[in-house]
Amino acid sequence: MKKLVLATNNKNKVKEIKEILSVFNLNIVTLKDLNIDVDVEENGTSFDENALIKASAIADILISKGYNDFIVLSDDSGLEVDYLGGEPGIYSARYAGNHGDDEANNIKLLDKLKNVPKEKRKAKFICSIAMINNLGGNKVVKGEVQGIILDEPLGSSGFGYDPLFYYEPFNKTFAQLSPEEKNKVSHRAKALIKLKEEMTSFV
Ligand code: IMP
Repeated sequence: MKKLVLATNNKNKVKEIKEILSVFNLNIVTLKDLNIDVDVEENGTSFDENALIKASAIADILISKGYNDFIVLSDDSGLEVDYLGGEPGIYSARYAGNHGDDEANNIKLLDKLKNVPKEKRKAKFICSIAMINNLGGNKVVKGEVQGIILDEPLGSSGFGYDPLFYYEPFNKTFAQLSPEEKNKVSHRAKALIKLKEEMTSFV
């Protein structure tokens, strides 16, 4: 059976991907399952490019290990704020300096938007997912969701910029949504739905 190798060990992402792609006859595994421990430098200039760089580096490793029937899936995501010309963008995870310091990132974002009125605080989350197969064929899909950056955090679920990301249709921030609610409307969910459509020509 063809292997679908997920370039993430994040349990929530793995669960979401497995659910959406369960219709396909694929053996879905993570890098951890294959004992691959690699830190790919994401030095591209866009979400699409970074997702593809990671997928392709992992495909090379799989080939060097003798795998010959696989698809690698890799995602890159972040927040773009209109008023800040698209910042933090591809630097979302390390906006304040340290990779993954959500609290510092949120403080920096609030600081940059100090006294900026609500109508100018539009933002979007973006998620690019790249897939590449053992023959080098590739495809990148993208999902986006629009919101407004609040001037103080609200809610405690989710991660990253969720407490500041106000989603108008639900009248809540992403951090006030259950995982199920967020997974219906998120940038990642939208990208995964597109991926499912594209997948048919890949498997
Ligand atoms: P990654 O693509 O999972 O590495 O995410 C990059 C960064 O973008 C994260 O560290 C967060 O700061 C931000 N981000 C991406 N997706 C989300 C989301 O769904 N909620 C909140 N922040 C997110």
